[in-house]
Amino acid sequence: MAGPKIRVFVDQPLGQGQAVALNEAQANYLFSVMRLGLGDAVQLFNGRDGEWQATVAEAGRRRGIAVCAAQTVPQGTPPDLWLLFSPVKKDRTNFIVEKAVEMGVARLIPVATRHMNSERLRAEKQQAHAVEAAEQCGATWVPEVAELQPLDRLLANWPAARRLFWADEGCSGPGNGWEDGPAGAAAAILIGPEGGFSADERARLAALPFVTAVTLGPRILRAETAAVAALALWQTRFGDWR
Ligand code: SAH
Repeated sequence: MAGPKIRVFVDQPLGQGQAVALNEAQANYLFSVMRLGLGDAVQLFNGRDGEWQATVAEAGRRRGIAVCAAQTVPQGTPPDLWLLFSPVKKDRTNFIVEKAVEMGVARLIPVATRHMNSERLRAEKQQAHAVEAAEQCGATWVPEVAELQPLDRLLANWPAARRLFWADEGCSGPGNGWEDGPAGAAAAILIGPEGGFSADERARLAALPFVTAVTLGPRILRAETAAVAALALWQTRFGDWR
């Protein structure tokens, strides 16, 4: 009986006959939660070698081994899109990370802004959410979650060839901004905090040549809704949904 695929991200080489060590968290998930046993199949991916079907060869309480049998999915690449977001409350930030991975991004960059809700962001916790989301959604990569960075510094060091789509709740010009920029090119989306951007942040963004202000419709969306909506709009125009 073919159940749902059980996928696990491992940071080890994958290849024909390769034995892969499973750590305590992975052993707990596979053998206690999912109730896999010796000889059962699990799909492994590491972000480099595609997805492999592997067979459980050792199923301990704290560790295990799976042996790669065959590649099931070749290595893919995410669209060259970064999501910049300003941390909101913890659960909502977790939601943004999870949804961004499902929607398809290469990188997540938390940005510190004037009105952000939360000073603290545990990048390694968010990275773990990204891994879980990648396991669940079938991606063969895990987007990197960067450390929190001040918006100013990020803009000062911005790679000029990467268009930055700024979700601007005050955007009222003609059109919606999204037409700007070629398909497939490097891009990023910037979503503000619950409190929105400050006047000086808005002025700075509006003046930058690599920034395009975009609207997400006539209502004010919560930051996490805005992130998902903006990712969908970008994906249908420029990304791997086309
Ligand atoms: N408190 C702010 C709203 C912040 S909403 C205010 O009342 O103006 C959080 C973020 O979501 C915004 O900074 C923006 O990046 C994005 N956003 C929400 N609604 C949007 C819209 N209609 N168009 C573009 N961006 C939007």
